[in-house]
Amino acid sequence: MTNDDLQLGMGSAITRRDFLNGVAVGVGAAAAGSLSLDFATLLAQGRAGAYPPALTGLRGSHAGSFEVFHAMKDGAFWKTAPQPQVTGEEYDLVVVGAGISGLAAAHYFQKARPGARILLLDNHDDFGGPAKRNEFTHNGRTYIGYGGTQSIDSPAPFSAVSKALVTELGIDMARYNKVLDSGLYKSLGLRSAVFFDKETYGADRLVTGDVRDEAFQAAAPLGDTVRRDLMRLLTERFDPMPGLSSTEKKARLARMSYTDFLTKLWKLDAGVARLYQTRTHGLFGVGVDAVPAQDAFGLGLPGFAAMGLDDKPGPGQNYDSIRSEEAQNYYFHFPDGNATVARLLVRRLIPNAIPGSSLDDVVTARADYAKLDAAGEPVRIRLSSPVMRVRHVGAAGSGQRVEVAYLQDGKTLKTVSARSVVMACWHTAIPSICPELPAAQKTALDYAIKVPLVYTNVFIRNWTAFQKLGVQRVSTPGMWHTSVGLDFPVSLGSYQHQTNPAEPIVLHLTKAACRPGLPIRDQHHAGRAELLSTSFATIERSIRDQLGRALGGGGFDPATDILGITVNRWPHGYAYQYNSLADDFWVTGGEPPCQLARQPHGRIAIANADAGAYSYTDAAIDHAHRAVQELLT
Ligand SMILES: Cc1cc2nc3c(=O)[nH]c(=O)nc-3n(C[C@H](O)[C@H](O)[C@H](O)COP(=O)(O)OP(=O)(O)OC[C@H]3O[C@@H](n4cnc5c(N)ncnc54)[C@H](O)[C@@H]3O)c2cc1C
Repeated sequence: MTNDDLQLGMGSAITRRDFLNGVAVGVGAAAAGSLSLDFATLLAQGRAGAYPPALTGLRGSHAGSFEVFHAMKDGAFWKTAPQPQVTGEEYDLVVVGAGISGLAAAHYFQKARPGARILLLDNHDDFGGPAKRNEFTHNGRTYIGYGGTQSIDSPAPFSAVSKALVTELGIDMARYNKVLDSGLYKSLGLRSAVFFDKETYGADRLVTGDVRDEAFQAAAPLGDTVRRDLMRLLTERFDPMPGLSSTEKKARLARMSYTDFLTKLWKLDAGVARLYQTRTHGLFGVGVDAVPAQDAFGLGLPGFAAMGLDDKPGPGQNYDSIRSEEAQNYYFHFPDGNATVARLLVRRLIPNAIPGSSLDDVVTARADYAKLDAAGEPVRIRLSSPVMRVRHVGAAGSGQRVEVAYLQDGKTLKTVSARSVVMACWHTAIPSICPELPAAQKTALDYAIKVPLVYTNVFIRNWTAFQKLGVQRVSTPGMWHTSVGLDFPVSLGSYQHQTNPAEPIVLHLTKAACRPGLPIRDQHHAGRAELLSTSFATIERSIRDQLGRALGGGGFDPATDILGITVNRWPHGYAYQYNSLADDFWVTGGEPPCQLARQPHGRIAIANADAGAYSYTDAAIDHAHRAVQELLT
């Protein structure tokens, strides 16, 4: 350990119950296709804490959750696979994947067939997919954070089906205004800020305010050319496409990136585009180099004011850049994000597993993971159980039962029998699990590449540094995580958010794993590889360095102020939404691959948000509903 490491507090006493530093090398080997790994050990490590929400270190797609599946995709697994053990377990429905889509599918099936025997299988040690809960405990108090899916929040209005489920789960959307302390941070004088790092901008400098403010521009280490060009962009009324109609302009904007729009049409210095580069990370998992200019217009980025563009969505416009008042008003953030939605679903499916009966008590209710897979219960959730093969017994169309093979404890291949199966897992996983699917459908499924993201929660001793600096959320565009912010001030039931800066709080950091300059899908592939090969130690060091430099002026000391770190890495994060730069069919109106991908096959139906190429919880629910209807008819 270097002096720098010691100053940053590397090796200090934060909880590292998942001891992932120790397996980082092995994970790399598995990702590269080696079968020399002891998967059972990896799985055991994933399960080291009996209570997954409280595990810290490298979580999300944790060690032990993906290696064996990658080995199967590489073809290595079946060469050495053990003979499957027939368990004799028979189910009316087996659901592959216990994310929100899988849980919702089980819910709809149970409603239609009360008493049905249902088994959900998931490769992770927790349910919910990215709708995950993180907990930290300090001095007897539990602090809750969201490890993925942040909120009930969708760019398009929820369908009647999704709204009905939200209501059925007891979520009163109108309550959000009452549980959110919306004025808290403002009352403390906290604003947003940008931290310019010396590696990217030549100097470390924290600048509060917004890029549109003159004081901000004067204080930021931008250089005269960037400052002048930024001023042009923000103030000049310029139409780079004179003489064209709104429709013609939008057609062109759909085919160029926002970066090109700024540098080639406006002819601005590249430093201006760099200022906006990470603005779209949260929506698309890539920067503005891969975001169409038409979508930048829809999102309100500057440069379009004098172009006379109408408000109607143009061909190829992304869902996220189409404004809907109705959708904006339908919003709820729980302290653990949409993990509450997952937990409410689990409570309905297996009431013993999560005590309580209301929205107020679910937030602090402790899930009993030992009760998720109890013999004799009609619904069972079997975690850390990657499904390796799903096939009809007999011919696909006429076979009356489906055999599902999964790996238990990382070493024992087991089979169960199902009358019906919902594949609610990631679509890219399905072709290798269901070899009997038609080739064209497999190609369509494989198109649904997921967007790699990281949501990290850092539990800190106090937030006086934020108060002294007058900041609530800091954009850090040049660093590994590109944003840092104080948790949402939400209180629900007996859970109270923090109001006193002298007390601990959960910080939320985000990263979109992307490679600016590459086509969007290549960026996602490269980002996934990066996430799977980056060790916790590397990420921890970057977090300590980042927080120390950005907040040091307020007295933050990474060596003493950090109490815990949970890195939720999601190599398979958002569902991929079609992009007019990459997907011609999306602009021309051709059939999108998700339509063929989600076709039922005999007794197997296909759900997941991928089925709608729409990266929101409502898509996961809608497609669970559709898939179950297909099996019931
Ligand atoms: C960081 C992040 C933030 C997000 N924020 C929001 C938000 O604020 N609002 C919103 O609406 N949406 C958000 N989303 C998207 C939202 O999480 C998803 O749209 C939704 O939860 C997807 O649910 P799903 O069940 O379709 O897929 P998933 O949740 O991905 O579930 C699929 C499950 O299948 C499992 N699986 C995969 N392969 C196998 C196998 N072989 N065997 C067994 N199981 C397998 C996976 O591990 C996973 O648990 C966010 C996503 C991420 C990653």
